[in-house]
Formats: sequence, C-alpha cells, structure tokens
Amino acid sequence: MNILLLGSGGRESAFAWKISQSPKCDKLFIAPGNAGTGQYGTNVNLKVTDFEGIKAFALANDVKMVLVGPEEPLVKGIHDFFLADEELKSIPVIGPQQEGAQLEGSKDYSKAFMQRHNVPTAASRTFTRDTLQEGFDYLATTGLPVVLKADGLAAGKGVLICLTLEEARQELLEMLTEAKFGDASSKVVIEQFLQGIELSVFVMTDGTSYKVLPEAKDYKRIGEGDTGLNTGGMGSVSPVHFADEAFMQKVEQRVIIPTIEGLKKEGIPYKGFIFIGLMNTHGEPWVIEYNCRMGDPETESVMPRIESDFVDLLLGVAEGNLNEKELIISPKTAATVVCVAGGYPGEYLKNKTISGIENVRDSYVFHAGTSLAGEDVQATGGRVLAVTSLQDNMFDALQQATADAARIYYDGVYFRKDIGFDLL
Ligand code: AMP
Repeated sequence: MNILLLGSGGRESAFAWKISQSPKCDKLFIAPGNAGTGQYGTNVNLKVTDFEGIKAFALANDVKMVLVGPEEPLVKGIHDFFLADEELKSIPVIGPQQEGAQLEGSKDYSKAFMQRHNVPTAASRTFTRDTLQEGFDYLATTGLPVVLKADGLAAGKGVLICLTLEEARQELLEMLTEAKFGDASSKVVIEQFLQGIELSVFVMTDGTSYKVLPEAKDYKRIGEGDTGLNTGGMGSVSPVHFADEAFMQKVEQRVIIPTIEGLKKEGIPYKGFIFIGLMNTHGEPWVIEYNCRMGDPETESVMPRIESDFVDLLLGVAEGNLNEKELIISPKTAATVVCVAGGYPGEYLKNKTISGIENVRDSYVFHAGTSLAGEDVQATGGRVLAVTSLQDNMFDALQQATADAARIYYDGVYFRKDIGFDLL
C-alpha cells in the first residue's frame, strides 16, 4: 500500500526509515520531507497544512494511509477534513481528530480532562484577561517556583517557570494583556511546580485498545549539564532505567488506562499516538502534559527499538484491531545526539554544507533541518541531524552516538557531549 507521511523533521525521518522496511509499504511519500527522507521514499513539495494540496496528491497517487508527524495539522483538523470528504473518508489518518488533538492544543482543556478522569497532575487554575486580578491573587497562594503556561500552541516556548512572585506577576500580565505568545496566551494556566525527573511515555491507540511504546528521556536545554536556553530537544535515550516495571505499572494504571477510558467515555474518537510527558516524583508519576503525536527527538530513539513491522501496527490503529498486533521491543539501548546550527536556539547559521555523514560508523543519521542544494546537503534548520546509535548497553550507545556526531562537520556545528551520561 502507498503511505503518505506528513512532516519534515528528525521524527519523520525516523518514521520514514522504519516504514520503508515494511513489506506492507509499497510507495512511501514524505511531504515535505528533507534532504535525508529521499533515501526512504519520495519527497513531495507540499505544506503539512495545505489540506487541499494533500487531498489532490493522495487521490492522484493511490495513497491508502496518512501518518501525521507534527501537531499543527492535527490541531487544525486534517483528520476531520479527510472524514468529511466523500473521496477521502476511506483513507485512514493516523493522528486524532480535532477534539482529541485538543489534549495538546489547549493546556486548559487537557488539565480539565485530567481532573475529570483523576489522572495525577499538578494543581492548577486557568485565567484570562478578565480574571487577571484573580490570577494575581492565586499566584500569592501557589508557592514558588510556579509554572505559567500559555493555553495554546506556542512552538514549545509557552511554558515559563518563575522563581519569584514579581516575575510571575509580570509574566502573567504580559501573557494576558500584551499577547506575549499571541493568541496562545489569551488564556494562561497557572500550575504548581513539580520536583522530580522527567520522562516521555508513548502510547499508540486505535481508540479502544493500546500499546505502550518504548519510553524515552529527552534533553531540552542547549548547554551541557542541562543549562541555558530551551530548545526543541538536543538528544534522547531509550529505555530509561528509572522507569522500572513498578513505575510503569503505576503509569499504566493511573495514567494510561484512565486516559483511554476517559476518551471513550466522553465519546472522543482517538486513533494515533498519545505522548505523555511525566514527572517521576519519588517513584510516583505526575502528568506534565499530553501531546497528540510522537516526540522529537524521542522518536529517533524509539523507532530503532521497535522490532515489529511498524506498518502492521499502524494498520491496527487504522482498522481498530491493534489488540491483535504484536509489539516486540528490543532490550537494547538507543541514544540520540542532535547536531544543531551555530547560534541555535537564537538566530542561527543557515545554508552551511554538511560533510562527514559517510564517516559515521555505527549510528543512524536522521535528517531534520537539511535541504539539497544541487549535490550539496545543507544545514538549513535549527536542529540539523539526529545521530542515533543502538547498542547492547547504555554506555556504548551514548559513547557511539556522541563519537559519531563528532564525525559530522558543517560551519557552526554544535551538539551536546553529555546526552544521557547523567543516567549512567
Ligand atoms: P510543557 O510544554 O507542558 O511540556 O512544559 C515544558 C517543560 O516545562 C516541561 O518539559 C517541564 O520541563 C517543564 N514543566 C512544565 N510543567 C511543569 C511543572 N508543573 N513542574 C515542573 N516543571 C514543569
């Protein structure tokens, strides 16, 4: 069958790599893809939010399944668009409809959902411009640090951890009255700060049954020792040793099952991935957030650990028989080191020629922000390449991925040399 994958990052490269290995996949199209995804299929020059363009392409190319990588088209309703169209409605879309995507698209919606279904999460309240004063009053009661979250999608930038009350008041004021994050901050969730260690848990669901994919830990800060500015993600590791069986059982009982059951009870159809951002606080799981898609760069560490036919699992999601499918997970460790552009996450260098990928010894190189300029592969995005190594133990995986990242060069190349070493 022909599959259309939407997106252009490292996550989509890892998906494309895995899908292209399936005997069930005939032609794979990636829209828009990057300089690396062409190895696994055919890049298609379409934006992920160009629904009419995607329709025309899917119909002209006998596409039998659409896998949506990023959140934006889901929150904008691509799945609903397919279902509402006579010619498209028989083509399954992997990724929730607009209502389910609100679990990511609105922090207020997701907090209320968690509260309705007793999913453990930090205490919070939501405020608008009209209730600013109440927000100030609430801030005085929350303790410090306190977390302020823009309600809507803010490209990963809408969460602020404030250390003082003055800072929190100022930020709340700017978010609500000066549209600090545009429309996304017309509502702000004020949330209690959780202490602990974070991890990401990924669930694949057909709306009734589910499979828990390998968990991962990601590294968000630009600097070594987890310092400096937040980024889209500088690396990831899977498995995560502190997510032992006892902890994962709590996650399943207290978080995953109530979430899937909650969606069912509320009549919210959901076919796709649920990415659960968790805090492990003294062995207890607390939900920080839901996302309606896989994580990046976690997917780059998760896909190599899946030994089963991934397309068969996707078919289980599409056809509603995921419970009949087998998920085999490798016991090996995958470590991902992300090479970014000089200057990232600020203003960064662009159009720099990449060399040395052929020198990588024992890692997969998943392209993210790359483009072809004639024969040249150029670094064009902030996160340029994700270098993933799968090895028998964590130390070897970390060392190999880090050593292989060092074999790649472009003007301004930067990567963290400490990804995962805190877990050893
Ligand atoms: P989110 O966009 O909700 O994932 O938040 C981004 C990051 O902010 C998370 O990955 C956490 O590191 C941090 N964060 C969010 N909420 C909390 C919280 N309640 N307590 C501590 N850290 C948080």
